[in-house]
Amino acid sequence: MPIAGTCPYFQREKGDGYTYCECARFRFPDKQARRDIVYKYCAHPDGYRECVLKQTMDQFYERKYNGEQTGKHKIAG
Ligand code: SF4
Repeated sequence: MPIAGTCPYFQREKGDGYTYCECARFRFPDKQARRDIVYKYCAHPDGYRECVLKQTMDQFYERKYNGEQTGKHKIAG
């Protein structure tokens, strides 16, 4: 069953078995693994803050917007 993500980077789950967030596309090995991750992080009211991908995306946007404010909008890959 599709879930609503709490994390601001959660995007959607598709019928093809993939779960999408702004940072990654996941294909979990089974339904239990999906539940373990999605309910512990993506859909959890507080748990998403502990996700390393969420923290990475926060840092990405911090660099991006700080760069725009200082006129140094360049993100190294
Ligand atoms: S909690 Fe992590 S994995 Fe889940 S949507 Fe957010 S950034 Fe992606």
